[in-house]
Amino acid sequence: MKTDNILYENIDGIGLDEIQEEYGTFSGKISNGRNTVSMNENEKISAIANHFEGIMRVLGLDLNDDSLKGTPRRVAKMFVKEAFSGLDEKNKPEITLFENKYQYNKMIVEKGITLFSYCEHHFVPIIGKAHVAYISKGKVIGLSKINRLVQYYSNRPQLQERLTVQIAEALKKAIGTEDVAVLVDAVHLCVASRGIKDTSSSTITANYSGKFINEETKNEFLVLIK
Ligand SMILES: [Zn+2]
Repeated sequence: MKTDNILYENIDGIGLDEIQEEYGTFSGKISNGRNTVSMNENEKISAIANHFEGIMRVLGLDLNDDSLKGTPRRVAKMFVKEAFSGLDEKNKPEITLFENKYQYNKMIVEKGITLFSYCEHHFVPIIGKAHVAYISKGKVIGLSKINRLVQYYSNRPQLQERLTVQIAEALKKAIGTEDVAVLVDAVHLCVASRGIKDTSSSTITANYSGKFINEETKNEFLVLIK
């Protein structure tokens, strides 16, 4: 762990604690012991393509097949640039705040935000909706920025519980208020398409803080997102 500490501290002044808070269990290492944080996007894509090609070979797939030969690189690009782009700090959305000119001091709700993530246990999709609300303390956030924050934290191998908390914490920090509610309702393909094969259940996780801990405020939010 000592070496990790030193390496991480060299990255744009981000300390280990912050990295762990941001990435959870992400170790930033690949099998040859190289620290992936120092790799650029193209190096990551090449490394992942090699590994994925290995997986395909073990499965007995013909890498000379026209339809399959581009797959390792295609998958690697998708991992780095899309599906897991949220592991890279530089993709964190810039948050724009506006003055709350109308002194609107009720809750602002954005419901039904499309959410695509990946279960970190099986690497299969989590598909759902995020519902977010906050009460302004003087500043309001550009609405599409909430979608972008949801996307950023979703584009990682995730646990729904952690994802919910990360969205809430990022919003609190961005808007400068504790009065935030986040509810995620999602289907996990590891439950729907394999294992127990339950296609009708979904998982709900919620995080309430500040004024939303109050039953009345929480219920107002729950009624609004119905
Ligand atoms: Zn899973």
